[in-house]
Amino acid sequence: MNAKITVVGSLNMDLVVRAPYIPQPGETIIGSEFQTIPGGKGANQAVATARLGGQVSMVGRVGDDAFADVLLDNLKSAEVDSTFVTRDLKTASGVALIVVDDQGENSIVVASGANMHLTVEDIEAAKQIIADSDVLLLQLEVPLPVITRAAQIAQEHNVTVILNPAPAMTLPAELLELVDVLVPNESETALLTGLLIESQTELEKAAQSLLKSGLRSVVITLGGRGAFLASLDYETRLYEAFSVQPVDTTAAGDAFMAGLAVNYGAGKTLPDAIRWGNAAGAMATLRFGAQTSLPQKMEVARLLKGEKPDSILGREP
Ligand code: ADP
Repeated sequence: MNAKITVVGSLNMDLVVRAPYIPQPGETIIGSEFQTIPGGKGANQAVATARLGGQVSMVGRVGDDAFADVLLDNLKSAEVDSTFVTRDLKTASGVALIVVDDQGENSIVVASGANMHLTVEDIEAAKQIIADSDVLLLQLEVPLPVITRAAQIAQEHNVTVILNPAPAMTLPAELLELVDVLVPNESETALLTGLLIESQTELEKAAQSLLKSGLRSVVITLGGRGAFLASLDYETRLYEAFSVQPVDTTAAGDAFMAGLAVNYGAGKTLPDAIRWGNAAGAMATLRFGAQTSLPQKMEVARLLKGEKPDSILGREP
């Protein structure tokens, strides 16, 4: 059986311009290529999870504009159910204005728009779909009371709650208590714990302090080093990253979340689910872009079996 995953989160249209450099305040420069690309952490993780074989429903809000149609079509083509993505007739869809320079550095402004108008009533309307899920997958680009209500419904129905606390912000204790698996990256961990993480000892200290908030498990993603697990149920240890030569690490975190959620939701152990997360995250670094780089289940399975990335991607070594 494929895991049933509900994602409550954001949908944005990314407006991406390539430019020779990031302009200074007051400066106008001529860029080159312009692209509109569906994004938002919620939608990215929903699409990533569907590609890995999850049966995915998304709960979110778009505006009353042309971007909304594209965002909904994008979910449809990824086979993500969008029944509970509502249209807000008074607000624009979320957008992210992104400038990428020749060195690959970027500068981003997000206008959350309709995402911040997702309401607790929208969650109540989607109650049944949350209750019937194996996993509720959350991030922090929609209002906190909405996320908290979704997590309460999940807990009442024994649905596993996985929270990716991105973008980084401090979290109320009442939300942390509802989370089964918290998955921050290093900078989010630093913000949540107030600890500077520069050594293995500090990493362990941070993970232990997060466990004290009432969580069962914390998985700290460490980029090219892999992911660190601290849990009430499993041995505390590092799961090493797959050795690859990344071309663009955008969406590696989203692919990791999907690999973790879809496998944990299907009944695998957390360590096994982390291995799938590491493999999905590594595969996502091998192609450019966000949703464009998200891997298919078969690609991740082949990496896990030890096949070389070049052969998985059909490239000459
Ligand atoms: P985020 O993008 O959210 O900051 P990370 O950079 O920690 O998250 O990456 C998430 C996961 O993606 C890592 O735990 C790892 O599994 C995988 N990953 C990221 N960068 C690399 C890399 N350079 N090589 C291999 N795997 C990577």
